[in-house]
Amino acid sequence: MPHPDIPVLHLDGLRTEFRIDGTWRAAVDGISFALRRGETLALVGESGCGKSATALSIMGLLPRPAGRIAAGRIVLAGRDIAGLPDRALEQLRGDRMAMIFQEPMTSLNPVMTIGAQVAEALRLHRGASRQAANRQALAALEEVRIPAAAQRFHDYPHQFSGGMRQRVMIAIALACEPALLLADEPTTALDVTIQAQVLGLLADLKARHGMAMLFITHNLGVVAQIADRVAVMYAGQIVEQGSVHAIFARPRHPYTAALFAAIPRLDRDGQALAAIPGRVPSLDAMPAGCRFAPRCTLACAGCAQPQALAPAGPDHAARCHLAAGGFALA
Ligand code: SF4
Repeated sequence: MPHPDIPVLHLDGLRTEFRIDGTWRAAVDGISFALRRGETLALVGESGCGKSATALSIMGLLPRPAGRIAAGRIVLAGRDIAGLPDRALEQLRGDRMAMIFQEPMTSLNPVMTIGAQVAEALRLHRGASRQAANRQALAALEEVRIPAAAQRFHDYPHQFSGGMRQRVMIAIALACEPALLLADEPTTALDVTIQAQVLGLLADLKARHGMAMLFITHNLGVVAQIADRVAVMYAGQIVEQGSVHAIFARPRHPYTAALFAAIPRLDRDGQALAAIPGRVPSLDAMPAGCRFAPRCTLACAGCAQPQALAPAGPDHAARCHLAAGGFALA
């Protein structure tokens, strides 16, 4: 367990690149943040913004040889793990850090019972005996509220619903009490009632185990339910960062403001949804100045320069020259 003053996770200038047509291009371009014990940071943005590439970099799961960490540090409980060999990262995965994905069926082994899959993590990382691993696996399945867990211990993944499979994935991820849980869109494939249950369960488990959680989502509604802090990513960079309260009270980057404007509101009758025009730039066609400029309704001559992440209030930073003065979306 890291000292409470040491962040569980500290990314320092992380740059992750993929080779496209023989040229290395940055999918994550110099991002930094710290995540403490018991804290949830939501990494928010559209598809292609670099959120999942960030998570895969932390987990050491970048596809090889087409992906690489080109610069920066990934410090897990005080130890830089960015350059660790695969074998050392394998030992950390599932032990000190674990990840849950959007579609549990792609991560679960279809020909292994769910009990055996939870127990496997404990045998592998904790060296538990078969009997002890089975006992702890059952406790883990009960903790994630699988109904009649003892009876279902020997069932296979296809005998479970999507929501129950995600609970099994959470049980596997938490079996070894990791310091860090990465959750990559874990509720996106679930219907809204089950989504609320899984979010409630994750919040509960985080409070009980005191782990740090990096929660990746494109859904700001989910952020409000689960996160303490938010980092909004666009085109490989963090464009806004702060507490949930600060960002929801007053977004300081036009991209964040546009994401909020695109949320359907039940209290506004017959109002058209505000879509963000255009799309995230591809890795080989990044704008030279502000990367959001081609889609920003507030773009002006000053936006032709690259923008730095600058303070925009207490516990709040944004990458836009309008952030300090404020703006209203057109
Ligand atoms: Fe929009 Fe300019 Fe701010 Fe970029 S720098 S978000 S283009 S106003």
